[in-house]
Amino acid sequence: MRKLISVVALATLAAGCGKQEAPEAAKTEAAKSADPVTLTVYSARKEHLIKPLFDLYTEKTGTQIQYITDKAAPLLSRLNSEGANTPADMLITVDAGNLWKAAADGVLASVDSEALEANVPANLQDENNQWFGLSIRARTIIYAKDRVKEGELSTYEALADEQWKGRLCLRTSKKVYNQSLVASMISNLGEEKTEKIVGGWVNNLATDVFSNDTKAMNAVQAGQCDATVVNTYYYGRLQAKAPDANLAIFWPNQEDRGVHINISGAGVTKYAKNPAEAQKLLEWLSSEEAQQQFAQLNHEYPVNAKVSATPEVQAWGDFKRDELNVSEAGRLQPASVKLMDRVNYR
Ligand code: FE
Repeated sequence: MRKLISVVALATLAAGCGKQEAPEAAKTEAAKSADPVTLTVYSARKEHLIKPLFDLYTEKTGTQIQYITDKAAPLLSRLNSEGANTPADMLITVDAGNLWKAAADGVLASVDSEALEANVPANLQDENNQWFGLSIRARTIIYAKDRVKEGELSTYEALADEQWKGRLCLRTSKKVYNQSLVASMISNLGEEKTEKIVGGWVNNLATDVFSNDTKAMNAVQAGQCDATVVNTYYYGRLQAKAPDANLAIFWPNQEDRGVHINISGAGVTKYAKNPAEAQKLLEWLSSEEAQQQFAQLNHEYPVNAKVSATPEVQAWGDFKRDELNVSEAGRLQPASVKLMDRVNYR
C-alpha cells in the first residue's frame, strides 16, 4: 500500500514559515533558520527502517522529509511515468539490481561527492555515481545444527552435490536477491558452470521453493530440509525472536571468491527539485553518525568502514566478502533470470 507520510511537525513548519510563533521548546536550532527545505523520498526500504534516521536528520538540520514506501518496481515505474514532474528527490531501494535498473532507466542523477567517495567502497557504488550503497547484507548459508556437520559445507556450488539430495530449501528465483546471487556466480564462474550448479540445487530441493527467506529458514528449523540460502538480516531477526533455534550460519567460498554480498542504497533523482539538499542527506546517511543506526535497524553491516556492526551481527564471525562490483548483479540479471528458467528453478 502506498502511503504519503510527512514527518513534518506542524509547529516546526509554522515556526520556519514565520507565520506563527512555536513554543520555544519545539524550536530546533535549524528550524529557526528561514524556509526549511522539504525533501521527498521514494523508498523501497521499509518505513520503520528509515523514519528514525529521517527524524534525526530533521532534528539536526531543519530539512523536512516526506516519503512514500513501496516495492522497488512500482516506485521505479512511478518515477519513469512522472518524468520531469516527479516530486521525488531521492530513491532508496534494496538490492543493487534494483539500483542498477533505476540508473539504466535514466531516473537518477550523477552525484559528485568527496564524502560519498570516502564513505562508500568503490565496489558498492555505481561507476557513474548515480547510486551509493548504504548498508551491506550477505546472502549466505543457514543450516540445521543437529543434522549438518560443518565439514559438510564449503561453497554455494557444493550445495549442488549428490550429498545434498532432498536436503536443500530455497527461496523462489523470482526474488531479486537470488537473481543477484546467480548473477554473481555467472560473473565469477561463467554461464555454463553456473547453469550446472543451479540445476543441481533444483535437483536437491526437499520441497517447493518458498516465497521468502524466513519461511525457508523455518522449514530448516522444522526438519523439512537441512540447509538454505538467505540474507543475513533475516537470520538476525529470527535469532532475536528465537535465540534457541536449531540453526547456525555458515560463510561459504572462504577459500576462493568469498560470500556474495549485496546492498541497500540510494541515489538522487534526475529531476530532483532540491538536488543539493538531497545530496547532503545522502552524504549524511553514509556518515559515521548515521551509519551505525542505518545498519543496526536491520541487523546489517555498515558500508562505512569506520563504523562497526552491532555485537549481535559481529558474533556471526568475520568472513571474506566477494569483492565483485555489485553493479554486475544488475548487468547480469537478465542472463541470470533466463538461466534459472532453463533449469526450472521456479
Ligand atoms: Fe529483504
